[in-house]
Amino acid sequence: MTTTLPAYDDVVARYEPVIGLETHVELGTNTKMFCGCPTDFGGEPNTRVCPVCLGLPGSLPVANKAAIEATIRIGLALNCSIATWCRFARKNYFYPDMPKNYQISQYDEPLCVDGYLDVEVNGELVRIGIERVHLEEDTGKTLHVGGATGRIHGATESLVDYNRAGIPLVEIVTKPVPGAGALAPEVARAYVTELRDVIRSLGVSDVRMEEGSLRCDVNTSLNRPGEEWGTRTETKNVNSLRSVERAVRSEMLRQASVLDAGGKITQETRHFHEDSGDTTPGRSKETATDYRYFPEPDLVPLAPDAAWVAELKAALPELPRVHRRRLQEQWGLSDLDMQSVLNAGAVELIEATVAAGATPAAARKWWLGELSRRANETGVELADVGATPAQVAELQGLVDAGKLNDKLARTVLEGVVAGEGSPTEIMTTRGLEVVSDTGALTAAVDEAIAANPDIAEKIRSGKVAAAGALVGAVMKSTRGQADAKTVRDLILTRLNASA
Ligand code: ADP
Ligand code: MG
Ligand code: ZN
Repeated sequence: MTTTLPAYDDVVARYEPVIGLETHVELGTNTKMFCGCPTDFGGEPNTRVCPVCLGLPGSLPVANKAAIEATIRIGLALNCSIATWCRFARKNYFYPDMPKNYQISQYDEPLCVDGYLDVEVNGELVRIGIERVHLEEDTGKTLHVGGATGRIHGATESLVDYNRAGIPLVEIVTKPVPGAGALAPEVARAYVTELRDVIRSLGVSDVRMEEGSLRCDVNTSLNRPGEEWGTRTETKNVNSLRSVERAVRSEMLRQASVLDAGGKITQETRHFHEDSGDTTPGRSKETATDYRYFPEPDLVPLAPDAAWVAELKAALPELPRVHRRRLQEQWGLSDLDMQSVLNAGAVELIEATVAAGATPAAARKWWLGELSRRANETGVELADVGATPAQVAELQGLVDAGKLNDKLARTVLEGVVAGEGSPTEIMTTRGLEVVSDTGALTAAVDEAIAANPDIAEKIRSGKVAAAGALVGAVMKSTRGQADAKTVRDLILTRLNASA
C-alpha cells in the first residue's frame, strides 16, 4: 500500500476516536486453572502437562480456588460487582494450541461486572468503565519454524508447546471509551499502565508484557462528529506499553485514510508490528455464535460467599494511585516532578532504590537522567534497561563515600548497564576509583604548576580563583579520577596561598 496517511492533528479535527481495551493477565498461581500442573514461565516444551490440560478423554477439570480468589480481588480493586452465582462456559473452536478443541471461559455470566478504573492523563483524571472481568484458561504456544519471519506463511512446520495451556487467565474488558479525542492513544497507554500497577499491587501476577503475562488487544474506531460510533478493529500482538499507544495512533491514521477515501472499515483483528509501528489485517472477526458457547457441564457453578468477598475487599492493599500520592509527599515532589517520574515509569524503581539505601533525590536523578535516556535510546522499558535499584543505590553509595565523582559514576553505570557486574566490581576492575591520596596526586599537581607558570604566579600573589584552571589541568592528566577538592587544597598548599 502506498497511500499517504493524513496528519494526526488533521484526523482528530475531523474524526472522534472510540477505544476499548481487552487485557489478558496470566495469574501467578502455583498450579494451572483446572489441574495440578505447575505454571512457571519457560521450561522444556510439553513437560508441564497432564491428561487434564492436554484434554485427554475422560479427564475432568477442578477449578483452582486461588485463581478464583485472585480474580475476585482484581474485580474488587476495579470497583466491580462480584457475581453471587455464575458459571464457566465452553468456547468451542478448533485450533492446534487448544488441545480440548474448546476453551473453558466465561460468557454471559462473568465473575465480576460493571466497575471502573481512574487513570491520570496530563494531570486530569479519566474514568475508564470496566465491562467485565472473567476467568478462563490460557492456550498453548505455537511456534512456526523454517520460514524467515516466524509467521505461519513460509514456515515448513509448526510446533506446539502445551506448558502454557491451562494457566489461569483473567480477561478484563473495558466499556467503550469515547471522548478522549487527540489524547486517545495516551489514555489507552495510561489505562494499561494503571491496570498493570493495580494488578501488581495485588500480587496476583507479575504482569510482564514482554513475557506475555499481560497481553493487550486494542480496539479502535473513528466516527465523524454527531454520527454513530464507527466499526472497530481489534489490534493484537501489542507487546509493550509504548506499543499500546502507537497501535491506537496508527489505527486512527489508517482508518481516517480509508474513511476519507469513502471506504468502509471492516470489523477484523489486525496485527501490530513493533518495527514499523503499523498494523496489517488478521482474520475477520468471529461472532459469538461461531463459538457455540454453552455452560461448562464438567464444572459446578461458582457461588462466592458474601462474607468471603467482604473479607477480600477489606484486605485489599493500598492501591497505586493512593500509594503514589503518599510517595510524592515523602519524596517532597511537586505535581510536575511527580508527573515526570510517572511518565518515565520510574515510581517503583525509585521506591526500590530508596529502600536499598539511596536518598529520594539521588534515586530520582539516576533513573530520570542517565537511565531514562538510555532506555529511550534503546527502546526498552526503564525497568529493563539493565540496572537494578540495588545497583543504583550501591553506585550512589560509592559517590557519597567519595570513591566516585559524578563523571566516573556515569562511566561505572555504563558498565552496569552493559552487564559487567556490580558498581563496586566495575570500579575496581576498570580502575575508576577517585584518587584522593595526596602522595599520588602531588606529582600531577607539580606538573600542572610547572606547565602553567603564569597561572601559578597569579595564585601565589593571592588570586586563588585562578586555581580552577590548574585543577582542570590535573583532572585532565588524571583522566578525571582525581578528587577535585584534594587537588585544589594541594595546589594552594604548594603555592603558599590560602583559600
Ligand atoms: P470481542 O470478544 O468480540 O473482542 P469484547 O466485548 O470482548 O468483544 O470486547 C470488545 C471491546 O471493544 C470492548 O473493550 C469494547 O468496549 C470495545 N468496543 C466496542 N465497541 C467499540 C467501538 N465502536 N469502538 C471502539 N471500541 C469498541
Ligand atoms: Mg474479547
Ligand atoms: Zn495439567
